[in-house]
Amino acid sequence: MTAPAEQEVFSFQAEAVQILDLMVHSLYSNKEIFLRELISNASDAIDRLRLELLSQGDVPEADGPLRIRVGYDKDAGTLTIADNGIGMSRDEVIENIGTIAKSGTQEFLRSLTGDQRKDAALIGQFGVGFYSSFIVAERVVLTTRRAGLEAGDGVRWESDGKGEYSLETVERAERGTTIVLHLREDEDDLLNGWRLRSIIEKYSDHISVPILMPGEPEDKAEEEEGTPKPDVTVNRASALWTRPKSELSDKDYSDFYQHVAGEFSDPLAWVHAKIEGIYEYTLLLFIPSKAPYD
Ligand code: ADP
Repeated sequence: MTAPAEQEVFSFQAEAVQILDLMVHSLYSNKEIFLRELISNASDAIDRLRLELLSQGDVPEADGPLRIRVGYDKDAGTLTIADNGIGMSRDEVIENIGTIAKSGTQEFLRSLTGDQRKDAALIGQFGVGFYSSFIVAERVVLTTRRAGLEAGDGVRWESDGKGEYSLETVERAERGTTIVLHLREDEDDLLNGWRLRSIIEKYSDHISVPILMPGEPEDKAEEEEGTPKPDVTVNRASALWTRPKSELSDKDYSDFYQHVAGEFSDPLAWVHAKIEGIYEYTLLLFIPSKAPYD
């Protein structure tokens, strides 16, 4: 067994501190977007795992179904978002989580309009998504292990979002990433299954992997009994392009487009068609309403 690694403390860049501060103060009226951002990251991590496994000729589902799990603990005051996607190595954590929005930061700060709704949408576009956790959390603990590395290569990242973060090597049996948000005192309303489900339905229904939550007790008696209920899938969990056109609304297409493109405006137009012949394929093409910032 390897000896437990020392905890190391790192500082964010000055710009990161600026962004964190801005996030917490100016985006407060849109605070629920943090969940959209974390679920979106989890979904991307699962997509990247799928791609990596397929390119190695492996079956992505061999180690159990790919999924995102959202849970809460009323007593501890925590929310947890866990995925069994690709995970991160120690270097990747430093690179991806320690360096906020590497290149886009200045651009992001320049683009802020002061309009909270627009600024909230910018967050996704400029890749500062993970940090929106600090809108509702006073402390965030991220534990992760890169697919393909050993259980002893897990990494624990922790920060209160005030300028420093710590890193530690830990044991983690399963690959993927778990994020625990220690909520600020006045954010108790988020420790509620019904509220979380409604946020997920509103922002993350288009995510194609299942988002699981613990089943809620049906009544007082069940609640007192305390036996955990089986997980339930709270999103539709099917890829948009596989669904019949007749079932899809303009909003479904727009939400999906905004997710894949990291955009906040509606697409100008789209084409969705199923082509059948010697080869069969589905086409889903979006045309953006404006050129990207870069
Ligand atoms: P963005 O997702 O827009 O790049 P974020 O700040 O949300 O910006 O995330 C930064 C990076 O951290 C991601 O690009 C990804 O490489 C990594 N990351 C975030 N969440 C996860 C996760 N759940 N699993 C694996 N990597 C992640």
